[in-house]
Amino acid sequence: MKTISINKFLIDHTRYDSSPIKSPTANNTPIEMPQLRLHERFSEFMQIDEPFKNSNMFKDMFALQPPNRREQIREIRKNFKRKITVKTVAINTKPINENYLPKQDKFKPTLVLDLDSTILFSTQQTSDVKMPNAPETARFNDGLTTSFRAQLYPFLQFCRDNFEVVVWSAGEYDYVQTRMNYCNLADYVDYVLSRNHCKYVNGHYIKDLNRLGRDLKNVVLLDDNFSSCILNVQNCIPVRRYMGQQDDELLQLVIMLRKILEYDCIVRGIETQMDVCRKRMQTCE
Ligand SMILES: [Mg+2]
Repeated sequence: MKTISINKFLIDHTRYDSSPIKSPTANNTPIEMPQLRLHERFSEFMQIDEPFKNSNMFKDMFALQPPNRREQIREIRKNFKRKITVKTVAINTKPINENYLPKQDKFKPTLVLDLDSTILFSTQQTSDVKMPNAPETARFNDGLTTSFRAQLYPFLQFCRDNFEVVVWSAGEYDYVQTRMNYCNLADYVDYVLSRNHCKYVNGHYIKDLNRLGRDLKNVVLLDDNFSSCILNVQNCIPVRRYMGQQDDELLQLVIMLRKILEYDCIVRGIETQMDVCRKRMQTCE
């Protein structure tokens, strides 16, 4: 098995301020008490039940109809941001304006790609039982069987040709690393971020795209989980949840991304695909 270059994993072992307690870097290392207290306070303040009521928020979001949809999305984000900024400013001991990614040498729009249930699916069941139709499955040392979504390699090749590719998973570091090592998947991506880079809010791992250090006008996030993208809804293309089934979702995403790339501004391109997104989400289970 090929070893992935470690500099692709931009992990910061000191960044516990907004990271979950059960952090990949904390496998066998207890978190120091001041940091733990900090985290407890963070969690305590982040009592946000809305808009995380269920995992079908994508459906609800895309069910909203113009002309009010944009205003409603803006309102949800504004309320969320207000809560999160007020509280974090009070409890963070370190500035959090440091970017996760180094500067780009040459401009490319940035594609942030979720891992679980977007391009792969992991289960404790054996592949024989759970995923008879999955195109490719592998058993890993952590006891999980992971299935990779159909057309994954052509999809990643397309992404690599057209975007700076950042895999950002809410999974723990070791889990993400082993999956990205598998079959050279890491060769298709520029950077890998894991759970430590997420904000942990009321049981949800949130990917705050503002932390990437990229112009958000040219960032797109592909994710199956609405709560991941609540801070950057305008950047998100919802992905049909993958649970080991045979489907053509990744090819559908390529078609959509091609259209989005026709625009100078990626966010404007995403906006033009809202109707398509809405229809796609309505056909989800
Ligand atoms: Mg996911």
